[in-house]
Amino acid sequence: MVQRQEASYPLQVVVIGAGIAGTLAARALAERSMDVAVIEPDLPREGQDPARRGALYVKPAVEYSPETRFAHQAFLHAAEYYSWLQSQHPGSGFWYQTGTLQVAWNEREAERQEKLIARNDYSPDFLQPVSRDTASQLAGIDVPGGGLWFPRGGHLFHSGMRRAALDHPRIRTVQAKVTGRPVKSQTTGNWQVPIDTDAALETRHIVVAAGASTADWFPQLPLGRIRGQITRINAVEPALRATISGAGYALPPLDGAQSIGATFDRDCQDPQVRDESHRLNLQTLNDWFPTLGSRFHSTDIKDGWVGFRSTTPDHMPITGVCDGLHLIAGLGGKGLAYAPILAQEVAHSICGQPSILDPDLGNRVSPKRFL
Ligand SMILES: Cc1cc2nc3c(=O)[nH]c(=O)nc-3n(C[C@H](O)[C@H](O)[C@H](O)COP(=O)(O)OP(=O)(O)OC[C@H]3O[C@@H](n4cnc5c(N)ncnc54)[C@H](O)[C@@H]3O)c2cc1C
Repeated sequence: MVQRQEASYPLQVVVIGAGIAGTLAARALAERSMDVAVIEPDLPREGQDPARRGALYVKPAVEYSPETRFAHQAFLHAAEYYSWLQSQHPGSGFWYQTGTLQVAWNEREAERQEKLIARNDYSPDFLQPVSRDTASQLAGIDVPGGGLWFPRGGHLFHSGMRRAALDHPRIRTVQAKVTGRPVKSQTTGNWQVPIDTDAALETRHIVVAAGASTADWFPQLPLGRIRGQITRINAVEPALRATISGAGYALPPLDGAQSIGATFDRDCQDPQVRDESHRLNLQTLNDWFPTLGSRFHSTDIKDGWVGFRSTTPDHMPITGVCDGLHLIAGLGGKGLAYAPILAQEVAHSICGQPSILDPDLGNRVSPKRFL
């Protein structure tokens, strides 16, 4: 752990939420010599939370659409960033760069991938088309078809990554919940951030990165909220070697368990792990990846994790300034790929540096597109 610096008052930046987006934004700001306070009721604990692992993956469209252009750039940035972050915190061990295979699990997906390869000229460090044999070798078990191989993909533990990001002398954490919308003082120009454990914090800049809860403070933005559940289950042999995505995803075993997921439960708001969602994860895996799915039984389920995705109608994230507050929201099911580049973007904006996204992508992620 690093030595914290004493915080000066008012704070330079308060980040609300220590999820992937908030911790990476805090780190990006700290790397630019800003003092940052991160407010979070559920700070990442020591050790890895085994049930909360996620895949670094994107799903490029056939056409090189703006969403795909963003995903391409974000994915490469994320893979490099996680490797860098882990190298800065050698004991953290959160990142497994196994490569990600997007498997052509049915005819439709195989045709889609064929068109995508015919119409684009991706460099092999982003993606490579692979035959079924090669895909099976990369995966370590028989897969239902060929696919797209992303050699820089992988999977990571959320808690370890978040802790590594926060481990910087310019970052301090405040275990608290923000209880209302921050208010700007007309006299000082500073923001007041109300929290449940102490007096309001005063700060010059605020980054709101509260995941699905961000919608509560920005009713003018069309942010949605979709429940999801991951299932952690006893590992089977032969072991999966790569991160696999298809109609869902399957992660390689670690400590005798592997994770599969995740459900998209549009009509359910239950924050508890549900047996029904575990069953759905097993059933879905069996449909798209039967050589793996058929070897799992519900009696082998260890545990799971439930969360809520923050979504937008155009599937692009939201990053920019809204009502004077800096925002990172709407990361949907691609937070691991999208958060690192958006965190840099927010830090550049607060520090007065030029945007790292080109003007078109900058506009496409801006909250202004909805206002
Ligand atoms: C089941 C499931 C599986 C997923 N799998 C993947 C995957 O494999 N790969 C992938 O890329 N993405 C995946 N996602 C999506 C990914 O988890 C999100 O995109 C990502 O977590 C978004 O990051 P975030 O930091 O914006 O939000 P979050 O991770 O939700 O973090 C927001 C943080 O803000 C805090 N907060 C909220 N309200 C307040 C408040 N009032 N005061 C202070 N703090 C507050 C919360 O406690 C939380 O820690 C999955 C999502 C789910 C639900």
